[in-house]
Amino acid sequence: MKLNVGILGATGAVGQKFVRLLEGHPWFEVTAVAASERSAGKPYRQAAHWIESTPIPDAVGELTVETCEPGLDCDLVFSGLDSSVAGPIEKAFADAGYPVISNAKNHRMDDDVPLLIPEVNPEHIALIERQQRPSGGFIVTNPNCATVGLTMALKPLQDAFGIEAVHVTTMQALSGAGYPGVASLDAVANVIPYIGGEEDKLETEPLRILAPLSREGDAGTPSVSSLAFPISAQCNRVPVIEGHMECVSVKLSGSPSIEHVQETIKRFTGPDEVSVLPSSPEYCVVVDEADSAPQPRRDVHRGAGMTASIGRIRPCPLFDVRFVVLSHNTVRGAAGGAILNAELLASRGLLPHRTAG
Ligand code: NAP
Repeated sequence: MKLNVGILGATGAVGQKFVRLLEGHPWFEVTAVAASERSAGKPYRQAAHWIESTPIPDAVGELTVETCEPGLDCDLVFSGLDSSVAGPIEKAFADAGYPVISNAKNHRMDDDVPLLIPEVNPEHIALIERQQRPSGGFIVTNPNCATVGLTMALKPLQDAFGIEAVHVTTMQALSGAGYPGVASLDAVANVIPYIGGEEDKLETEPLRILAPLSREGDAGTPSVSSLAFPISAQCNRVPVIEGHMECVSVKLSGSPSIEHVQETIKRFTGPDEVSVLPSSPEYCVVVDEADSAPQPRRDVHRGAGMTASIGRIRPCPLFDVRFVVLSHNTVRGAAGGAILNAELLASRGLLPHRTAG
């Protein structure tokens, strides 16, 4: 029997991506959609300004949008809520017993909340033990949309060599700002060298995701202490619709050869328990050796938007190695990443049926 899922913030850009990616999902079925008072009470088809390139699935289009209050008829909720409201709403759902799988930034750095990329830090799921709500509800988050690609590229380097410093400059798609997002007169034929709050996320989230989980003793309380190497980030909004591209330079311990670095990134895969999940791509990272790769228009849909494309791996005269990474901001960086998180939780038996059916 499929798990019934609700979507908080279902009318927004990320919410719509959830609706599209969950159509025909083998384990999850959308049974509730919720958004602000502006949308509540309307059929989803009318409330959502649909921006996906495939039609609204009929079953979801007919659902009535509800307010974001516990009581939704579902086993778990995905959250694509605006961060101005996500914090207390997600907590209320978790307190009421729902597993909350969130895209919003509000709880990402909480000590007891996993900030999860299944191929990178599945062991952080143990942090859920610390949430200890009598209702059984909990919150799991996925990272900022630019953090995901960067962290998937850094993971094999941290494991093989150790990282001493990172510099990253991003070129981020317009869809990362939601809908209606950036005004067209600001965006068209232009580059905006500022995305509020983004650099801070890029400089902190990878350090938490890449950190090991530790326990005091075999059965002690799990905890994660962020790593300490410096990350310097500069974030730019560019007139691309989907796909965040990042130019990265990394200082590594031991100054390995560029061939060793290339091979290490190429060989990176997630654990077997992740590779068998329905939304797992065949490869979580692909190294593309073409001179002009990767490019958003050509490569963003690799692995149905779940694969990060890495190119131009070469020596760096300032640090040791530099490369370009591209990942899909609303698929791997938002809804697709959250669905993969939920699949991993379900496969571990952490998403029980709460509803009759
Ligand atoms: P968006 O298009 O602006 O959508 C925001 C959603 O939040 C809408 O469904 C909106 O409902 C709902 N909402 C706003 N105020 C509300 C309120 N007072 N009560 C209940 N619901 C309310 O934004 P988005 O791009 O989808 O982003 C959603 C979240 O995901 C944000 O936290 C964002 O930071 C994060 N995120 C986005 C991306 C990306 O690439 N876009 C990637 C990763 C993470 P109405 O339609 O009724 O107003």
